[in-house]
Amino acid sequence: MKKIIITIDGWSSCGKSTLAKQLAKKLGYVYIDSGAMYRAITLYFLRNHVDWTDSNEVTEALKNISIEFRPNEKSQQSEIFLNDENVEYVIRDLVVAEKVSDVAAIKEVRNFAVAQQQKMGESKGVVMDGRDIGTTVFPDAELKIFMTADPAKRVERRFKELYDKNPNITIEEVKANLEMRDYIDSHREISPLRKADDAIELDNTNRTEKEQYEFTIKLTKELI
Ligand code: C5P
Repeated sequence: MKKIIITIDGWSSCGKSTLAKQLAKKLGYVYIDSGAMYRAITLYFLRNHVDWTDSNEVTEALKNISIEFRPNEKSQQSEIFLNDENVEYVIRDLVVAEKVSDVAAIKEVRNFAVAQQQKMGESKGVVMDGRDIGTTVFPDAELKIFMTADPAKRVERRFKELYDKNPNITIEEVKANLEMRDYIDSHREISPLRKADDAIELDNTNRTEKEQYEFTIKLTKELI
């Protein structure tokens, strides 16, 4: 069977990672959460007080960052490691979410992350989700999905996810964060979030996880 690259881009909290994980599992592909890489870099900058408005500081800091995805045998999913530390959970905090879009808009940061993402896709058999995967990272990917969903649904979903970990969180905070990230992600100069011309749009406002998976696996099977 032919191995391909599947890209899943779209707005924050559209269900990209849920779909990407299901596809990767079914196909025996590697799933790569590119957003986790930007979050891990942001975590490093916050912890080390890196002034990310200074490009020299950013360049120096990036030299000290090593990012790896390692499989977790128990959960059967890959988790992100920042300099050998498992940061899969801490990067989901709102503290990181509040700064990640600013950090992800920096040229040096994008060059650093994109080069690694392209390397991870060299042997194909990859499902990668993010904002610029179908436009910049893998412009020649065989299957490109662009996910959308009603904003109120997205807020509700993300709130439920975050509330389980932190019951002090409010729906207003979550809404403000999603709106801010979507705005910065789609208006930045380098690789802004946009649908690739050859991407297939998938609006999952009224689709179940099963339905969106079936829609995408059917498209995949036509290609492999
Ligand atoms: O996917 P997730 O919401 O975890 O991504 C966190 C942030 O990382 C996004 O809001 C965006 O600013 C940035 N990002 C990006 N390019 C990607 C993936 C994520 O700029 N390919």
